[in-house]
Amino acid sequence: MRRVYLDHNATTPLDPRVFEAMRPYMTGVFGNASSPHFYGRLAKQALEESREIIASGISSKPEEIVFTSGGTEADNLALRGIAYQKGKRKGHVITSSIEHHAVLRTCVALEKEGFSATYLPVDSQGRVDPDEVKKAIRRDTVLMSVMFANNETGVIQPVAEIGRIAREYGIPFHCDAVQAIGKRVMEVEELKIDLLALSSHKIYGPQGIGALYVRDGIGLSPMITGGHHERGLRAGTENIAAVVGFARAVKIAIDEIDIYRTMVESLRNKLESGLIKALDGVAIHGAQGERLPHTSCIGFASVEAESILLHLDLKGIAASSGSACTTGDPEPSHVLTAMGVPPELAKGSIRISFGRENTEEEADYTVNALSDAVRHLRSISSQWTTAKPL
Ligand code: PLP
Repeated sequence: MRRVYLDHNATTPLDPRVFEAMRPYMTGVFGNASSPHFYGRLAKQALEESREIIASGISSKPEEIVFTSGGTEADNLALRGIAYQKGKRKGHVITSSIEHHAVLRTCVALEKEGFSATYLPVDSQGRVDPDEVKKAIRRDTVLMSVMFANNETGVIQPVAEIGRIAREYGIPFHCDAVQAIGKRVMEVEELKIDLLALSSHKIYGPQGIGALYVRDGIGLSPMITGGHHERGLRAGTENIAAVVGFARAVKIAIDEIDIYRTMVESLRNKLESGLIKALDGVAIHGAQGERLPHTSCIGFASVEAESILLHLDLKGIAASSGSACTTGDPEPSHVLTAMGVPPELAKGSIRISFGRENTEEEADYTVNALSDAVRHLRSISSQWTTAKPL
């Protein structure tokens, strides 16, 4: 059966070049990077070279990179690491209402422990207003956390403005860049970011590896204690093969960023214009703002996203109804709700995220399959009476 993978924001296939880079560390080179002997030194060398590559990808210093098990752990380390710094279980955190659950649920957990949190609203295009960030600052604010680009809509946040505000008030600024790395050029110093969460499996690297950039001078409490790995910020023997793969994936993504952007953007434009032409009652969420080039969040009036996805799956097309972490959740997406999308339309919204291996022909195939599915579902829906402009 024909298969078309259009869920690259959930995860990406492993690039064969990444696999080749990892292979020696899954077979011959097996040392523990903390061992002083020959085997350990080989592993340590790979670890430090990888750290340099990732650091140069975000214009940081290698010693500012802490390897973690992925984006979720990096977000947790940033938020909890700052919150627990002073040893007091109180203080205020500013974040946005459209963050990934790795940030949102960590903030909720912190609230249960005695901290307080402000969840900033977004406008109809899914953007946080930097003025709102400024207004939310309190004397006891210990951290700001606003993502670089949203995983459901691809909408880019005003990170540079928020960074400037954070620096002006001397508040650490954490940015979840899990979806943005490799798609946007990012220089942490210029953007005044103090903590930046990264993940490998969104950029054709292996799953289960990520990193947190921690700006020199930012104090952080470790979440995992044990040995002196990762400057004492994250104990545990490093997964060298995964780290090497992550570094190779970052290097490829950055080297090929322009080709990638042009290519996926043209596929996305083809998809969106094709659907708008073929169907009434289609809304592209966040389309008026700046978005990641490969992500499209599309609402279809009077249909359920889960039914559309089922039809697509029968045609071999893999897409999603939002974050992979919320699959099966009957509630409309918290991101679309925050943007003021009516619940019925939010429930009829799907996310398509293109990748390097997709083709124009696949975009056409998807337009046809999607239009057929929506037409069919509307034909059996009592809610769909006539074409309603959105
Ligand atoms: N942050 C964002 C914006 C994400 O999209 C994801 C994953 O979907 C994560 C964090 C979690 O990353 P990981 O899957 O590496 O734990």
